[in-house]
Amino acid sequence: MIGKMMHKQLTISSLIEHAGRYHSETTVTSVETSGEVVHSNWGEIEANARKLASALERLGVQQGERCGTIAWNNRRHLEIYFGVAGAGMICHTINPRLKPEQLIYIINHAEDKVLFIDETFAAAAGQLQAHLKTLKHVVLMGPRNEAIAKKVPGILFYDELLAEEGEDYLWPELDENMPSSLCYTSGTTGNPKGVQYTHRTTVLHSIGGNQPDGLALSAKDTVMAVVPMFHVNAWGVPYITASVGSKLVLPGPNLDGESLVRLIDDERVTIALGVPTIWMGLLQALEKTGSKAESLTRTVVGGSALPTVMIPTFRDTYGVELIHAWGMTETSPLGTLNQLLQKHQDLSDTEKGSIREGQGRPPYGVELRLVDETGKKLPEDGVTQGELQIRGHWIVDTYFGHEESALTADGWFDTGDVATIDPDGYMIIRDRSKDIIKSGGEWISTVELEDIAMSHPGIAQAAAIAARHPKWDERPVVIAIKADEALTEATLLDFYEGKVASWQIPDKVIFVDELPLGGTGKVLKNKLRDSFGGILTET
Ligand code: AMP
Repeated sequence: MIGKMMHKQLTISSLIEHAGRYHSETTVTSVETSGEVVHSNWGEIEANARKLASALERLGVQQGERCGTIAWNNRRHLEIYFGVAGAGMICHTINPRLKPEQLIYIINHAEDKVLFIDETFAAAAGQLQAHLKTLKHVVLMGPRNEAIAKKVPGILFYDELLAEEGEDYLWPELDENMPSSLCYTSGTTGNPKGVQYTHRTTVLHSIGGNQPDGLALSAKDTVMAVVPMFHVNAWGVPYITASVGSKLVLPGPNLDGESLVRLIDDERVTIALGVPTIWMGLLQALEKTGSKAESLTRTVVGGSALPTVMIPTFRDTYGVELIHAWGMTETSPLGTLNQLLQKHQDLSDTEKGSIREGQGRPPYGVELRLVDETGKKLPEDGVTQGELQIRGHWIVDTYFGHEESALTADGWFDTGDVATIDPDGYMIIRDRSKDIIKSGGEWISTVELEDIAMSHPGIAQAAAIAARHPKWDERPVVIAIKADEALTEATLLDFYEGKVASWQIPDKVIFVDELPLGGTGKVLKNKLRDSFGGILTET
């Protein structure tokens, strides 16, 4: 019997086409590098993305070639996301906070043909240019700028490129398995590795990650993507908001609390997404400005562990729900997200809050498991800790430019995180496997020690590391920045009493003025271990 359904490729151009056709008047707000707030809409974004695709073809860029971006979250960056991938090229987002030698390594490794830059990075790009072997064009994301034209010879101007294009470009038919974007891991040890996403993985991530118990972004929302567009495709927010037609707010370069409060209030943001440090800054700014962030209903927090004190503060003072999520560059990034089940509905706010402190459950499309060091599967009882592994529709198989698969023999990706999973599937990250402290054969979670330190009002930021110890092999040491000058080591150590087992209480607290941060704002624990790992053995 003959019967057949249509087959359509899952492409990124289909997302922006949908936004342009069914949500064309929905606003996209963009803070430019100059600080100016510009209002565009999905219709204009789609039209400009097509013009950009056409301009790239005119410049001779071929399908499958990489176009790099060093840019903030703004309107042109959004158009580049869709224009580059829609034309069959690969949008390679680059973290501007990397050191020049890392930038050179990444751009050469990716063999970028075009580099799109915001004005902020023009001088740096000019200096890198001589080292970039494959680069044919540098494009400034803005109108013609004579001062920059003098500094960066041959630079093209985005607005001029688009002005030469008509409205008639049609998206090419692409195979959904073609690569569409590329993002390098932060590379705290060794060279960064590239993860190349495809049209299919991106579309499935957008649908799978945005279920009602996932991010749940909708056409009724105003979504502010604070998470940078150079960090795992801003967690997929550009694609997801195009697919559902949310109003989108791109905050540009200023991510300090007060700038964000202003944008939330002016644009009536309903949901914002970013790393915990951003929300700490926001809380301080809310207190300072007196704003109640009335439009805001929820924020998604991920990238590093959510300080648990933030949940009641946001809930009780501002009526904002914190949604904790976990993921990695290798997982597109959404791996888990914390929403409650029906059986939790009658629990108290405190009980609900304690479930929501963890990293949550996988959406349809990914699966998790825990294994021991021999690869044996471990029980999901909420207590047994093991190496967290993942597989699914949007998880890396092989790093960009590598021959060997990154997976285990039976097809799972080892995340390098140590976690527990409970019988309902709720996962809690206990540590990075290389960070965890092994004291006398027992594991101590640095995440837990940091969370306790940061719940003390006298602490602004804290990191726990393993320091070498003659008897116990390793013992915990906390490195912290004070919020209250009067705080002493003894007071903070006392604060741990009763919160962890007595043998887990840190041996020492060291106060510092700043902690070393990597390109994505995470504390570089390897640097701290280099500086303080011998502190308990030195005499
Ligand atoms: P990246 O690829 O730079 O996004 O880093 C991924 C790593 O960040 C993960 O393997 C985790 O170690 C860490 N991470 C991400 N989200 C969380 C979270 N919600 N809680 C704790 N660690 C997290």
